[in-house]
Amino acid sequence: MDNPFRNLPSVNDLLETPALKTVVERVSHNVVVDNVRTFLDDFRTKLKTKSGEFSVPSAAEMANSIATWISSEDKPPLQPVINGTGVILHTGLGRAPLAEDAINAIADVSRGYASVEVSLESGKRSHRIDAVKKLLCELTGAEAAAVANNNAAATLLTLAAMATGQEVIVSRGELIEIGGSYRLPDVMSASGAVLKEVGTTNKTRVSDYENAIHEETGALMKVHTSNYVVCGFTEAASIDELVALGKKTDVPVIDDVGSGALIDFSKYGLTDEPTIQHSIKAGADVILFSGDKLIGGPQCGIVVGKEKYIEKITKHPMMRAMRVDKMTLAGLAATLRLYRNIDEAEEKVPLLAMLSTTMDSLRSRAERMLPRLQALAYFQSVEIVEAQSMLGGGSIPTQSVPTICLQVKPQSISVQQLSDQIRKSESPIFGRIQNDAYYLDLRTILPSQDLRVIEAISSL
Ligand SMILES: *Cc1c(COP(=O)(O)O)cnc(C)c1O
Repeated sequence: MDNPFRNLPSVNDLLETPALKTVVERVSHNVVVDNVRTFLDDFRTKLKTKSGEFSVPSAAEMANSIATWISSEDKPPLQPVINGTGVILHTGLGRAPLAEDAINAIADVSRGYASVEVSLESGKRSHRIDAVKKLLCELTGAEAAAVANNNAAATLLTLAAMATGQEVIVSRGELIEIGGSYRLPDVMSASGAVLKEVGTTNKTRVSDYENAIHEETGALMKVHTSNYVVCGFTEAASIDELVALGKKTDVPVIDDVGSGALIDFSKYGLTDEPTIQHSIKAGADVILFSGDKLIGGPQCGIVVGKEKYIEKITKHPMMRAMRVDKMTLAGLAATLRLYRNIDEAEEKVPLLAMLSTTMDSLRSRAERMLPRLQALAYFQSVEIVEAQSMLGGGSIPTQSVPTICLQVKPQSISVQQLSDQIRKSESPIFGRIQNDAYYLDLRTILPSQDLRVIEAISSL
């Protein structure tokens, strides 16, 4: 009998094939040799355990498989995906998509050098916050601003700068966990401030804060319960009440508003989201929020408020460790500029565009896509259905926005298998599985992606 191992091509035979010679021109010789060795080792193992079940392919055939394999490994590990889940701020999918203006601004400053810390006016050294400070103050009504890597960093930094070794009073109803490793009590202790809990889970009054104030109190802190609601028999101190107490006792008030709404989201049917402007008007000393939640900008944590506290924060040594780069600043500035005209923001900030899109316009997109999906033999049915999109990203858990979905039922595979195949297609798509069907939510799919959705599914 033939010894199948004797028929295996050598590493050199394979390297001499046209398929792998082409690959060597693209990736290094060493990478190709490593991959060829691994492939041959795997193949020998397969032959040992299952010999007789298959024949040894030719060197050319093997080289083609290896070339395809190397190319598939060559894809960037971080890839753009299409979000059909209906979760608008999907943390796993990178939260808010950026406005075209922000993308262009980021590309412009990263291609070459940029005026990050020099004033074009005077030619002298300036502060990097200048790129966004005026806009942030103009839009929110604040005196001063600082920007850190994300809101977690902004919180840590603010607490460290304002209350190291001192107590910060927080309601027991607001000791949030955001996900990952963000738990307010842990952030507090990492900052060097001491958490002083007051009230109960469902009821905390201003008098609870007042009774806890003493000479070691560094700040009063209000935290927006972004990802849960306490309802029923409840009471909480408003930011206005906390500010009044802070003024009376000479203790600063920190307001972590979380998602950072710059406009009133109740016009999209989403109530309960405090605006930054409201907190400033109420007189909060320091306000914290994310740049990539309801603002729809790049990932960052924004701090606005009274000059005296912002200066303390900016001068803290941790600021340097948590500051943002020129790309973030450029993307944030470009996004904020759109908010100077709300109509323009609604048109150009993808998050706001998604929320303001009408049901009619979602339905007409779905109607254009429907016949092409219905024509595919491997679906039992494709229908247009009404559903609900969620804001996500730790925002407004109990509220949703009506939407239009394409509901797909596969013919011979399970819904999970369909979902897996669509996720692994040329244009990776994430949908939602519900009631034994696969849903693609038109609200979170950008209109420019409709055709790619059809093409990716048609090519399965
Ligand atoms: C999301 C959130 C944070 C954390 O913000 P990141 O930008 O994700 O770091 C902190 N506090 C509140 C209230 C939040 O909603």
